[in-house]
Amino acid sequence: MPEMKELTPSQRTLLGPGPSNVHPRVYRALSTPIVGHLDPEFLVLMNEIQEQLRQLLQTRNKLTIAISGTGSAGMEAALTNVVEPVDNIIVGVNGVFGNRISDIVVRCGANPIQIKEQWGKSIDLQKIEDALKQAGKVKAVALVHAETSTGVWQPLAEAGALCEKYGALLIVDAVTSLGGVPVKVDEWKIDICYSGTQKCLSCPPGLAPITFSERALAVARERTTRIRSWYLDLTMIADYWSDSSRAYHHTAPISMNYALREALRLVHEEGLEARWQRHRRNSLELLRGLAALNLHPFVDKEIRLPMLNAITLPEGIEDATVRKTLLTEYGIEIGGGLGDLAGRIWRIGLMGESSTRANVVYLLAALKDIL
Ligand SMILES: *Cc1c(COP(=O)(O)O)cnc(C)c1O
Repeated sequence: MPEMKELTPSQRTLLGPGPSNVHPRVYRALSTPIVGHLDPEFLVLMNEIQEQLRQLLQTRNKLTIAISGTGSAGMEAALTNVVEPVDNIIVGVNGVFGNRISDIVVRCGANPIQIKEQWGKSIDLQKIEDALKQAGKVKAVALVHAETSTGVWQPLAEAGALCEKYGALLIVDAVTSLGGVPVKVDEWKIDICYSGTQKCLSCPPGLAPITFSERALAVARERTTRIRSWYLDLTMIADYWSDSSRAYHHTAPISMNYALREALRLVHEEGLEARWQRHRRNSLELLRGLAALNLHPFVDKEIRLPMLNAITLPEGIEDATVRKTLLTEYGIEIGGGLGDLAGRIWRIGLMGESSTRANVVYLLAALKDIL
């Protein structure tokens, strides 16, 4: 085998749909020595992460933890624990991630009732209520808070009360929204909410914060069929995260938990309000600059996400060539469109550490050069 050199990845300015850039303090945390997953020091760290996550998710839910795995593991944990064969699950589908939720619902043997909306529009709560009325018993409603494939911000404040009225659980995908815009689990009556580390939390990918209300946990415990996933069975994982038991389930990814602890410390040092405002400010700045280049947002103003800016590509712009030049000449990553939107939009992420004025100015200058 030819000699392999030490790994030296390039410094990128990550302005795509995730991952985002990582703060030096988080890299330092990753390089600190590992301890055992039952070491008293690690158990303290787990408690600290739980408390930091509760503040971030604005919840008092006891079961608030970090699942081992990326955002999709969070999605799968949220669904597999409560969904049983033949259950009706209403799923808002207006992009890639609503489709992924439906796919998992099908794999659970259940029946997804899709509320479809054009990509680039939000899901109308009235349509969800109509479906709740028609479908008979509905176990849960699943909605994507920040649809990363389109840049749509799903209004959620009233969704929880609606689900409660019909006895359904509300499951929310906050993978991209958490840390960039408010996610108020208790106030909005969300039963299950999951996220990921590499979007607005600016940690490497590898953990999925998740929270379960008492009601959701009771549904998971009282189900009549066994949870099909052993690895993501929260009734067992909860024991490992619980002070009273600490029963071994699987070896926690120690270093990733160190990284998450530090990333959450950075979030709380900045303050949630200040962090949301920063995401808003830099998005507005980006859109102003892009308008001067005759590039305009794909999504209507009221439902436009600040951390994922979808931009309509005008005729005549070579999508792939521009993105390749950005990466090779400027070290900047932005995202292209997915599915039907391939070649029609760019997805410019301003997530977590990546959401800075300097990055906005740099990207605008690079685009001006290239175009
Ligand atoms: C990124 C993302 C996911 C999946 O997360 P992975 O970390 O890629 O597994 C799920 N939902 C949304 C809305 C996302 O943006």
